[in-house]
Amino acid sequence: MKIKSIRAFRIPNLTVKSGWSAEGDNGAARRAPWQVNAEVANPMSGYARYRLRDTWRAKFDAVGVLVTADDGSWGFGTTAFGEPTISLINDHLGPLLWDENPMATDRLWDMMMRIASPYSAAGLASYAISGVDLALWDLKGRVLKTPVYELAGGPARERMFCYATGNDTDWHMELGFRATKLACPYGTADGLDAISRNEDLVAKTRELIGPDVDLMLDCWMAFDVEFAVRLAERLRAHRIKWIEDCLIPEDMSSHVALRARLPWMTLTGGEHWYTPYPFFNGIRDRVFDIYQPDIHWVGGFTACRRIADIADAAGVEVILHAGMNTPYGQHFSYSHTNTRWGEWFAGGAPGLPLEKTTGFPGMAVPKDGYCVPTDEPGFGHGFTLAALEEMAL
Ligand SMILES: [Mg+2]
Repeated sequence: MKIKSIRAFRIPNLTVKSGWSAEGDNGAARRAPWQVNAEVANPMSGYARYRLRDTWRAKFDAVGVLVTADDGSWGFGTTAFGEPTISLINDHLGPLLWDENPMATDRLWDMMMRIASPYSAAGLASYAISGVDLALWDLKGRVLKTPVYELAGGPARERMFCYATGNDTDWHMELGFRATKLACPYGTADGLDAISRNEDLVAKTRELIGPDVDLMLDCWMAFDVEFAVRLAERLRAHRIKWIEDCLIPEDMSSHVALRARLPWMTLTGGEHWYTPYPFFNGIRDRVFDIYQPDIHWVGGFTACRRIADIADAAGVEVILHAGMNTPYGQHFSYSHTNTRWGEWFAGGAPGLPLEKTTGFPGMAVPKDGYCVPTDEPGFGHGFTLAALEEMAL
């Protein structure tokens, strides 16, 4: 079998549908989802006209990748950042893989990493590599008529424990989640009272969920070491399970410094690290307790396998970033022993059934805080070849 074509294309509104419009009928939705109005601390918070995330974040669409083989087999993967990623795949990585064996996922991943090295395999190229790698694993599962989680070692547990991310905490509790993560509203740029204002939100949330639900805090690259230390110390009484993604991702010496200043606090991160290399360095220095690669960003299924193996040998855990929001993350998490939790990014309007908040027709969604991927061949994403070819036109 040989690869015949690799095509990348835009897919608007794929992974998380809010299900809310300011005007018009919103059906079962009761209110706008949290992220419509929430203040979220971010790396640009200190620049007044770009204080809010939506004023500066790239608006590129999601990207679909369709790989076809000369015998008619096919596979579908997804990634992000629209035209730049599409160009890297269609104009460079893809054509160089034509006529290769599509089942050789490790070899093809290694080739892509090396091909991208003149402009760095990290960053946007890592997104491109992820999309192709996920499509290849999907193809492999379809050819072997097996779910990818079986190819990767089989189920590591009966079902995935899921936590919900977002600030619609009452909705998370209603859905049956037993762990929930807040987006932290204020960071270093917001001044000294940012610590008290964050504490107010955490205290209110702890009161709402009670003592037996885990609570985490996502800090989305908005802190420096000093702020992270002061906030963590203030929040200690509220029993936060972890604080996440506090610093600029590449600033490795600050990660090391934060670890030294907060030896008692569970620290997590890695969603903005690309390729397995920073994970090796981070795990060696034990800067985090839990590592959170994104399977659509870091280099795909193959990269995540390598990261999980490094982490396992060091005795630390992996929880994929937004791993329960796509069938790709679900299959990976379900089949690895050191991926015990899954993240469900809850971006849909409260009241809407979770099935209505995803763009994957075949994907399982969490029920009562647990999720089991479907056992369809490949990743069970639910797209037909005809539908994908239509999108690729
Ligand atoms: Mg995060």
